[in-house]
Amino acid sequence: MHEMSLAEGILQIIEDTVHANAAAQVRSVLLEIGVLSHVEVQALRFCFDAVTRSTVADGARLDVRAVPGRAWCMPCGASVPLQRLGDACPQCGSYQLQVTAGEEMKVKEIEVA
Ligand SMILES: [Zn+2]
Repeated sequence: MHEMSLAEGILQIIEDTVHANAAAQVRSVLLEIGVLSHVEVQALRFCFDAVTRSTVADGARLDVRAVPGRAWCMPCGASVPLQRLGDACPQCGSYQLQVTAGEEMKVKEIEVA
């Protein structure tokens, strides 16, 4: 159900954009989803198709771009790549990491007709 509320949020953004641009139809939507965000892309696609039925985004293509995870390592004093939440710092092995990227999901582009 997490993905359903995300899909509804995406539709809200799409509708606001469409109204602001006086457009009639949405061709495609580009999403950026962080690899640490716990968003199930297949489930999100399914929910997106369901919530956009009979809306301006009906039949729109959903493109998904994965955003790599990054974290700030306290001992290293540096930004390091993070594949998974709970992983250690790849440089020093510390777990004192503050996630800085990869947990977000955002609508990057909306292509209207
Ligand atoms: Zn480190």
